[in-house]
Amino acid sequence: MSTGKLPPAADGLQLNFCKTLACRNFGLSDAKYYLLQDTDPSRPGLVCRECGAFPPLLNNQAVRTEFARLKTQDSGNLAACSTEGCIAHGKPVLTNRELYHAFGYSGERQRYRCKHCQSTFVDKWSNANPKSGVQQKLLGLLFTGHPVREICRKLSMNPKTFYDHLDQVAARCRNKLASVDARFLQLAINNPLASTLAPLQPLSDNGVMWLTTGDAAQGYVLLQNINYSQDEEKPDEEADVYTPNSRRMPDSFIHLAEIGEPDSNDLLNQVNNKYKEVLSRSNVEDLYTRPVNVDYPSKGCLIRPQYTAYAQFLRLQELTMQWDDLTLYLPQEPLLRSAVISVFKERLQQRQCQPVYVTQTSEWQENDTADNIDIMLLSWWRDRWAFTQRGNAAKAICHLGKETGKEDEWLQRASTFMLEEYQARFYLNFRSLIDEPRRRLRPGGLLPLLDIFRAWNNLCHQNGDGITPAQALGLTRQPYTLAQLLA
Ligand SMILES: [Zn+2]
Ligand SMILES: [Zn+2]
Repeated sequence: MSTGKLPPAADGLQLNFCKTLACRNFGLSDAKYYLLQDTDPSRPGLVCRECGAFPPLLNNQAVRTEFARLKTQDSGNLAACSTEGCIAHGKPVLTNRELYHAFGYSGERQRYRCKHCQSTFVDKWSNANPKSGVQQKLLGLLFTGHPVREICRKLSMNPKTFYDHLDQVAARCRNKLASVDARFLQLAINNPLASTLAPLQPLSDNGVMWLTTGDAAQGYVLLQNINYSQDEEKPDEEADVYTPNSRRMPDSFIHLAEIGEPDSNDLLNQVNNKYKEVLSRSNVEDLYTRPVNVDYPSKGCLIRPQYTAYAQFLRLQELTMQWDDLTLYLPQEPLLRSAVISVFKERLQQRQCQPVYVTQTSEWQENDTADNIDIMLLSWWRDRWAFTQRGNAAKAICHLGKETGKEDEWLQRASTFMLEEYQARFYLNFRSLIDEPRRRLRPGGLLPLLDIFRAWNNLCHQNGDGITPAQALGLTRQPYTLAQLLA
């Protein structure tokens, strides 16, 4: 029930406010600045009295829940204090050494004691991996495109054992990455980042989107999450935004009867078509509130993508506290725009955050300079785009904070290419697994693969010059071999 109020803040988090940077109500969450209604679901629940913007409402508690889910997924198996309420709770030893004492061994494994609550625990991943041999073979086959069935036959194991190995490898990879990620946050400070949003299984239409954020120039992937929770159940019906349930998506979509217009090869048309698509959503931040075909996963629960996106950027906010400049290149997608503008509200007000939409044709050569620039104000938002063209190659950028004067620099440097490449390589490497008929509606099995692929991309995968993303950023000295990754 709305009763003319905004959804309440959750532990100080309040994400409902006007998201127009130039508006007097930007960032303000007092209901008197808005028109609030919940009688007509086809109309916005909140309209800014000052600028007329209609930012969709969010349940703050549900964003917190999603944030906790992502954090557990990313670091849940790392050695850390597990005492509820302890200030060290959930903070991994790897990145918070000051909170713990080394406390002897349990067999070959390191034991730690929490300085605050005195509880002790064992680091499961501190011994040499006794299964390294078979796991290297398994990964070798997986990375060369062998179907699971064939890998099982070659290594004489059953599928259950295969997936158990995969889970263990993923846990080791997360463990390896945790310390390199910590170095990334210190050494790559203020480097421009890029985000991408793509279907996890492009041929399945199962509604699972894959959101990544990483170093824009070197393609080091820092965060990746999907809007799918394996351990929760799908709700029977739509819940309103005043209940924390609103985060979970029921299987109720307006199905798409026919395919829309083909993609235009003119970049300005593409940008305008995207805005048209966005405005056809009843919630501009939710890709699934317009006619769309979704085959709901047969297990688990889809999460409304805005909750996953806001939660990922809250993670990024937490990780980049000590950065004084945060540049983020984004695909043209209001879901990401709203999440970035909401989460980084203070940084934007202090001009310490630069969110930039970027789009380009496939002919565009990375790092080409922009010779002539056309400025255009587009869409309801009057977004200020800068276009450049060179033969068939075209590129456009839009600074979401409406900063001007650096268009040529943004046009040359802003890019989501490295992160898109990362996702494209994932499809290419694991196509047979991703497209397996049984797998199409069971995305959960791909979760360990995502962790493994991120580790492999950051630490093992070499570019044309034989350099890995971690090396290029000075985080590691040489490429890791699979054996080192699994050690
Ligand atoms: Zn406003
Ligand atoms: Zn503790």
